[in-house]
Amino acid sequence: MSEKYNVLRRLRRTIRNRTEKAIHDFDMIRPGDRVLIGVSGGSDSMCLLQFFREGLGLLIHDYSFLAVHIDLGFEKKDTSMDSYFNALGVDYRIVKTDIASSALDPEAKKNPCFICSLYRRREIYHVAKQEECNKIAYAHHKDDIVETLLINILYGRKIETMQPVQEVFSGNMFIIRPFTYIDESMLKQFAREMKLPMFEKHCPIAGHTRRDKVKQMIRTLQQQEKNANIKENIFKSIYHVNVGYSKKQ
Ligand code: SF4
Repeated sequence: MSEKYNVLRRLRRTIRNRTEKAIHDFDMIRPGDRVLIGVSGGSDSMCLLQFFREGLGLLIHDYSFLAVHIDLGFEKKDTSMDSYFNALGVDYRIVKTDIASSALDPEAKKNPCFICSLYRRREIYHVAKQEECNKIAYAHHKDDIVETLLINILYGRKIETMQPVQEVFSGNMFIIRPFTYIDESMLKQFAREMKLPMFEKHCPIAGHTRRDKVKQMIRTLQQQEKNANIKENIFKSIYHVNVGYSKKQ
């Protein structure tokens, strides 16, 4: 067996084990669930779709899933996603929108990503209701959770981040994040090794967002602090909240 094959096998096993652990720890999937998988077309969501297709190795088998892509309407469109889903033979929906124009409107200049995510979320909820999905799975990983925590502290004056399981619509629907324990770098490597296709969204501000700045900040700090696992420490801090400040400022 080639070294390349072994690398992929180890990577798949690690991601699968950690994903199953998260699903188990937070009771993410139950018998009879219909899961909407948000597929943006980036490496993370392509990995999530891949692991769902492989069956996740769970003891639960009687759940179904639907891949959903929200086309944000950026100028250059990649239409091959349709063919990809068809070739895989998965249940899917592609929803065309003009979210891009709202996000890039000068009025939204201060925080286009907020507008973009909000409208995209609305579309996802709409499809989930139409398709009777009670779970929405996102490919958010450990890096996303850590970065969101810092974004909320630095720009939003609150200590809050994405949750592994989040109740919406009074418990009629749940957002789940099976990649909660997975590092972004692992997913990138897996997508590369598996040669999973990527479908770029051609957003002109991608790479210049608050998330990108925070990501860079963590990276820089990590380079300077060789003896501390900065990202892991921030992640673990979520489990050790010391609530001492009760007076509102
Ligand atoms: S970077 Fe572009 S596509 Fe991504 S959330 Fe922001 S506005 Fe939307």
